[in-house]
Amino acid sequence: MTTDASEVQEPSIAEQEWQGLISQTPAPVREIVAGVIDQHAVDCVQRFYEVLLNNADAAPFLSNEIVDTRLRAALGRWLAELFSHDAPDASILVQTQQKIGAAHARIQIPIHVVMHGARLLKRKLRVFIQALGLDGPQYSAAIAYAEDMIDIAIEVMSLAFVQGTRKEVEVNEAFRLMSLGKDISLERETQRAALLEWGQSFLLDICYGGDSANTLSDSAFGLWLRHKGSVLFQGASEIDVVSKAVEHVDNVLVPKLVSERPAPPQAIKALQGALEEIHYMMDQLFKTAEAVENGRDPLTKTLSRRFLPTILGREVSLSLRRHIPFSILMVDIDHFKSVNDKLGHVVGDSVLRYVAKILVAQCRMSDFIFRYGGEEFLVLLTETQEEQAIQIAERIRTAIEQNTALTVNEIDIRVTASFGIATFAGHPDYRHLIEDADRALYLAKAAGRNRWHVSKGRHVHSDGLAE
Ligand code: GH3
Ligand code: MG
Ligand code: MG
Repeated sequence: MTTDASEVQEPSIAEQEWQGLISQTPAPVREIVAGVIDQHAVDCVQRFYEVLLNNADAAPFLSNEIVDTRLRAALGRWLAELFSHDAPDASILVQTQQKIGAAHARIQIPIHVVMHGARLLKRKLRVFIQALGLDGPQYSAAIAYAEDMIDIAIEVMSLAFVQGTRKEVEVNEAFRLMSLGKDISLERETQRAALLEWGQSFLLDICYGGDSANTLSDSAFGLWLRHKGSVLFQGASEIDVVSKAVEHVDNVLVPKLVSERPAPPQAIKALQGALEEIHYMMDQLFKTAEAVENGRDPLTKTLSRRFLPTILGREVSLSLRRHIPFSILMVDIDHFKSVNDKLGHVVGDSVLRYVAKILVAQCRMSDFIFRYGGEEFLVLLTETQEEQAIQIAERIRTAIEQNTALTVNEIDIRVTASFGIATFAGHPDYRHLIEDADRALYLAKAAGRNRWHVSKGRHVHSDGLAE
């Protein structure tokens, strides 16, 4: 294949800067630092590991023996390449840092750990350069060269890390969606059957005196749970509960049943109970997964908060490009804790569903309603100025206050809600808008609840007081 000139990539900004730094640093200064590395690289590596092994965030990545020996050698080579005696080649240096950054992303070493390591190295180099007793200008030039070289390396590494991590997240998400996609009901049935089958064959083995060596975690169900279930239900608290229940079955119940003959009936009962619980939790997980899959919060069927960045980000850029206004309402149910405390969580849940229904009824099809937190909703009112947003908030407020449709044991349940209103004012980071609405909500609460308050931006409140 021929490479035409247009395919040759321009050196990146980092590479240009790096090249500049190398060529502008006098050769004798580079030589001084290269000499320091020759003499003290081993010390630097030693110090690096000493400190990072005591750092709880870093230790898990470093304490493995293989990693340890390999990384020590690699760190030594990295220093030697960075501060080589011949003028280092910036494009090769960039490639090296990109590879390292991508590897860090795969291992998921947190960036702050890498930064910490870089700081340690810089400090150590400073001490060694100081000890050379150079004259003022040479000393400063050597220090600046050493520190800038490390800083640029970390910068390139971090960029590759972020890109690598983003790719990973996308792939994970795509995999999750794909796995959850069409076959979710099939997956549910298969797992249900696998769990049932393990229970039956285990009990049969016990009853007929066979030697059942197959634990639940070694079964088809256990395998699936470990490798696939944990991806499908990533982040769900139930998955931990299920894993713990499986451990309990294998470590407590199975040994009891295997060691005592005839099998004690209570132990059999306990096993059946545990399996039922696992079964139930799995059912919940699949139900939640189905709802999340559709982008909905399972309880209220409003949009899941994880779509907020995408949707709000889109509205912001639309608004910036086409000058279309939009507003958000932060809605928080008043004294909701006391509803839970007095009437229980189940009633609390019904109230949440009910308020969500009112929100849906009072908003337009083009608006977005998110479950923002426990008893908080975020409503994104598209193409809506402040004035209209106030009207909509007032409409929702009245509807919630006046609702009479929610009764439990023939007792009317009445709730109210407070609102923070904020209209997009041009800041490209949507977090500012959310914070504005949040502050307005706080003021509505402070003013007595069951009311709305409009944000007047960051610095001045409606009463004219500077923040
Ligand atoms: P305020 O008027 O200041 O908003 O008071 P509050 O009681 O509504 O606010 P607080 O933040 O003190 O309490 C919120 C409560 O919401 C606490 C939590 O138990 C409850 N909650 C959060 N999520 C859920 C849920 O999904 N279901 C139920 N039933 N209750 C929930
Ligand atoms: Mg709240
Ligand atoms: Mg509340």
